[in-house]
Amino acid sequence: MILLDGKATSARIKSQIAAQVEAMVQVGGKRPHLTAILVGEDGASKTYVANKEKACAAAGFTSEVVRMPATTSEEALLNEVARLNADPDVDGFIVQLPLPRHINENRVIEAIDPRKDVDGFHPENVGRMMLGLPSFISATPFGIVTLLEEYGIETSGRHCVVLGRSNIVGRPIANLLSQKAKAGDCTVTICHSRTKEIAKYTREADIIIAALGVPEFLKGDMVKEGVVVVDVGITRIADSSEKGYHLVGDVAFDEVAPKASYITPVPGGVGPMTIVSLLKNTLKAAINRQS
Ligand code: NAP
Repeated sequence: MILLDGKATSARIKSQIAAQVEAMVQVGGKRPHLTAILVGEDGASKTYVANKEKACAAAGFTSEVVRMPATTSEEALLNEVARLNADPDVDGFIVQLPLPRHINENRVIEAIDPRKDVDGFHPENVGRMMLGLPSFISATPFGIVTLLEEYGIETSGRHCVVLGRSNIVGRPIANLLSQKAKAGDCTVTICHSRTKEIAKYTREADIIIAALGVPEFLKGDMVKEGVVVVDVGITRIADSSEKGYHLVGDVAFDEVAPKASYITPVPGGVGPMTIVSLLKNTLKAAINRQS
């Protein structure tokens, strides 16, 4: 079994990005700038945004967090989105999800200028991605594909089972892996909460992408020998540690790892690859804007 080390891989990519940024700055270019809007006090969202800020600093980007209270109206958030769309210093920005219930997420995402939509959630970017046209690919699927490529994992002709059909992970990764492209050409099956006998599909899979948000859903007896497993799930489980929680993935790692040829750990797998993919998108947005 080989560990798909997202931490080491993302660190390597981050230092390549940092070198590219310094080269841009040396010829008079501007450092890429990423802004994150954080609405409310959700603990996980705060951690994700803090990690994104840290990654920006490591890559030589400038960054900023716009913090808004949980009581922010949809109109006030849309005004902030409009301000960032118009701000020439901002190359890309994200609105950290989830948003408070009274705000319509789709309306907010659709208000983002697609050229600054480095999360790749705007319908224009999603549509372009599906057509295989240049676009911002959303960070988690982009990170997964990059990880598979970095480890030279063959995808062509292989059967990939994606567990989960969300707009931000399941469906885009299923689309990317089925495209006629590098790190594509898979035969893809998507499973979700209405799928009957999921194990019937996972046992036949050469590659499994688990993106359910159900801790340790994928058990050892649900996979075949040699399977490649990418665990996207992150669930916080409360404990008595200093942090007060630990992270658990969607895969029962101890059972599945001995049968797998490659597997991601949680943490240290898809999470860091997601963040570095956001940096890649922001760098691309900055290059697009400066050229
Ligand atoms: P989501 O929007 O809640 O979608 C979950 C999907 O899993 C849905 O399609 C749901 O089916 C399906 N599902 C849930 N329980 C199931 C079950 N028991 N059997 C079969 N299917 C089931 O979640 P998400 O945003 O895609 O995120 C999934 C996980 O990935 C979460 O743990 C999240 O924290 C994590 N995540 C990690 C990263 C990262 O950077 N590592 C990024 C994003 C998300 P239905 O459609 O039928 O409801």
